Amino acid sequence: MATAYRTYINGEWLDTGRSLEVHNKFSGAVFATVATVDAAQTAAAIDAAAAAFATFRKYPAHRRAQILERTAELILERGEEIAAIICQEAGKAWKFSMNEVQRSAETFKFAAEEAKRLHGETIPVDASCFGENRVGYFIKEPIGVIGAITPFNFPLNLVAHKVAPAIAAGNTVVLKPASSTPISSIILAEIMALAGLPKGVLNVTVGSGGTVGDAIVLNPKCKKITFTGSPGVGEQIMKKAGIKKVTLELGNNSATLIEADADLEKAAARCVVSAFSNSGQVCISLQRIYVNRACLERFTELFLAKVKQLKVGDPLDRDCDVGPMIDAGELARIDGWVKEAVAQGAVLACGGQADGMVYPPTVLTNVTEEMKVMCLETFAPVVSIVPYDDFTTALECVNSSDFGLQAGVYTNDINKALQAVDDLDVGGVMINDTATFRVDHLPYGGNKLSGLGREGVRFALEDMTNIKMVMINRN
Ligand code: NAP
Repeated sequence: MATAYRTYINGEWLDTGRSLEVHNKFSGAVFATVATVDAAQTAAAIDAAAAAFATFRKYPAHRRAQILERTAELILERGEEIAAIICQEAGKAWKFSMNEVQRSAETFKFAAEEAKRLHGETIPVDASCFGENRVGYFIKEPIGVIGAITPFNFPLNLVAHKVAPAIAAGNTVVLKPASSTPISSIILAEIMALAGLPKGVLNVTVGSGGTVGDAIVLNPKCKKITFTGSPGVGEQIMKKAGIKKVTLELGNNSATLIEADADLEKAAARCVVSAFSNSGQVCISLQRIYVNRACLERFTELFLAKVKQLKVGDPLDRDCDVGPMIDAGELARIDGWVKEAVAQGAVLACGGQADGMVYPPTVLTNVTEEMKVMCLETFAPVVSIVPYDDFTTALECVNSSDFGLQAGVYTNDINKALQAVDDLDVGGVMINDTATFRVDHLPYGGNKLSGLGREGVRFALEDMTNIKMVMINRN
């Protein structure tokens, strides 16, 4: 029997009379339904958030912090239940689902701390010859209703990255989760209500991107849109949003370089986790491994040996490493890209044959930069190993991408590490790690097609405030 979830608007749990089915991504079985809203109900949710803002903007910092802190505690208390939901709705293996639960709690804790240190600055007005005898300072104020639109692949933590800083700053939120993974957001709303969040401050509007997403993006009462998802949708949002703040966290075709002086055992182990966790459906999932020819054979051998140890299958199995793809369309897309690469001359070192909804860990060699598996975002458990002779040329290959989110470099040569830091056109350079490293208080975001702005609690929060300048004339 499927569990029926209602949606949460203006502090009320609503059965809207319409719903979508949520499938277990491994078995295909419908395990839940969630009430959906239309454009008019989305507008009503935005009105509720706007009304709640009138009082919540003055809510004291210590009380906002308390709600966020309590939210973190309640997420951990219900950790196993939430992880089981993430396993089913997103198809994410149990250990990575538990990991997401823990990270989400940390995101809320960081936000609780940031709520208490949001402050402005004094300005030495008399630095100008026209500014004598004036006192000047600025404060940071919440901006109003934040429209948050989130993807399927981290259904709790990427929601946390929008909701927690918004509330830390005193904003109110209308949240549209991905239609394939809405339950984590519903549970979060339940938790935040229990944690004491006033009604109307968080509203969850479940429904399609075209209807609900558009209704949020186009509504002038939303003062900021914070979006995480694909570059195509991000670009449409940017064009439609009008005069409001927009943050876009988009895709990548992440690369990592392996120099011969690195610890190859450690590098190979990290590369395997980075390429295949969450079936490669991570924005910083490792997709291109550039390996110095001097260590190509050794690295490839170590890497493939570890890939063969991965346990593939039902994400609810506690020892599963790689679960299903999010849907049949995505499975068919990546299968087509791999087949096309092979037809163009790539060699399959392992994988390449789907089993039910699971696409196996797949490693390609003999690829070219023009193949889709290299130049587009695979968002699947497919990685390519590419040899290089010259470090500078390898950095240029990384930069030849349309994307620029994060990159990794394994080397113990400080000069090469610093050269990479200087020359890589990305939002984050991970030395002696892969492109895939992230903890939730770091500034995070990309250059080029990877997006606009930065998340990571403090940085998201800054962009969810307006500066108000205050001048006191003592002349
Ligand atoms: P997606 O298809 O772009 O969907 C993301 C969200 O946008 C969903 O809630 C979707 O709703 C909504 N949406 C779709 N069309 C819309 C429209 N016209 N207007 C407004 N909203 C609309 O992305 P996804 O497949 O869920 O996620 C994968 C992508 O996200 C990858 O490219 C990945 O790299 C990126 N990502 C980036 C980061 C980062 O931090 N940089 C993190 C994670 C993922 P529906 O579900 O109803 O279609």
